[in-house]
Amino acid sequence: MTDLTASLIPDFDLASRNTLALQARSRFGFVLEDADQLPALFDYASSEALAVRLLGGGSNVVLAPGFDGITALIASRGRRIVDETATHTLVEAAAGENWHDLVAWTVEQGLGGLENLALIPGTTGAAPVQNIGAYGSELANSFHSLDAFDRRTGKMTVFGLQACAFAYRDSVFKHEPDRYVVTKIRLALPKAWRPNLGFAGLAELSGAGDLSPRVVMERVIALRTSKLPDWRVTPNAGSFFHNPVVAADIAAQILEEDTSAPSYPQADGRTKLSAGWLIEKSGLKGYRMGPVGVSERHALVLVNYGGAQQSHIAALASHIRQTVQSRFGIILTPEPIFC
Ligand SMILES: Cc1cc2nc3c(=O)[nH]c(=O)nc-3n(C[C@H](O)[C@H](O)[C@H](O)COP(=O)(O)OP(=O)(O)OC[C@H]3O[C@@H](n4cnc5c(N)ncnc54)[C@H](O)[C@@H]3O)c2cc1C
Repeated sequence: MTDLTASLIPDFDLASRNTLALQARSRFGFVLEDADQLPALFDYASSEALAVRLLGGGSNVVLAPGFDGITALIASRGRRIVDETATHTLVEAAAGENWHDLVAWTVEQGLGGLENLALIPGTTGAAPVQNIGAYGSELANSFHSLDAFDRRTGKMTVFGLQACAFAYRDSVFKHEPDRYVVTKIRLALPKAWRPNLGFAGLAELSGAGDLSPRVVMERVIALRTSKLPDWRVTPNAGSFFHNPVVAADIAAQILEEDTSAPSYPQADGRTKLSAGWLIEKSGLKGYRMGPVGVSERHALVLVNYGGAQQSHIAALASHIRQTVQSRFGIILTPEPIFC
């Protein structure tokens, strides 16, 4: 068995490796640059009875102050066009590639399909975990397949679209968090590009001449920059709660009380509501609790004003959930993973 002792970083500081900038340390850190290192990593961890936790860009986690195990930073790199069919270009990227850089690179290659997902922080390998989505698009729309290391069998396995069980901010990987390590993903980008402008803020582009993936990407970047606080300046984890999908009669009651409530009818007859709107109407936009608070710019974003730990975010999230539940009878579900 490979002795990894020399490659482990003791008392690994993670404060600069999570976008909420929470104070967090791990007993060991390990920089995973190649998927070939995975069997040795898990063999070693098991022989030393150490837990292993995966971390990409740290943009969808609420880290505990201490982790008594190995935090494996996914840092494998590489992206390329691997195949062309009559209708699609197949792009493959390693899990440690920065997601936005990948989107920008595909656009530079003249490929469309990912532009609505520009500027989402984090790594490519984490993108399937919650089926990242924004501006009327989600990863599943362009997804082809991925490679993952199965910790249970110690073997690599390939997942097609069906096997990933993608749903709204959900996938099989979210349900089995300690089983798979995504190592590479492949995306099928259409040769006959059709812009997806259905979402507010993009519709105005539909009359514009010379519409291209780059033009849409730039609009998405401008919209996101104007709406969301920059996590480098005001640490945050993006949208903190899922938009709740409720029975149509519950949504109708809320709309009767306030016709401005954003509501999106779903194929199954239920209605998706805006978690940010519910929080704002509960009077919590800009609310402060110790070192954390609800962003003044966007009610769905919880921010760390400095020195916060996981417990501060947990207490604020719990207060928001209770307040929204007593005001609207709706229970919000947090999006980031507490780990
Ligand atoms: C400002 C901001 C805006 C955001 N906007 C959006 C948005 O518009 N849409 C959206 O969907 N999300 C958004 N997010 C959330 C976040 O960017 C995504 O969920 C992103 O995919 C997380 O990537 P990451 O590398 O940072 O994952 P991390 O936060 O490091 O990890 C998230 C989870 O995935 C697991 N994981 C990481 N890498 C792997 C791997 N290779 N294999 C298996 N599991 C792995 C981790 O163990 C953890 O459980 C936003 C976040 C921020 C801070």
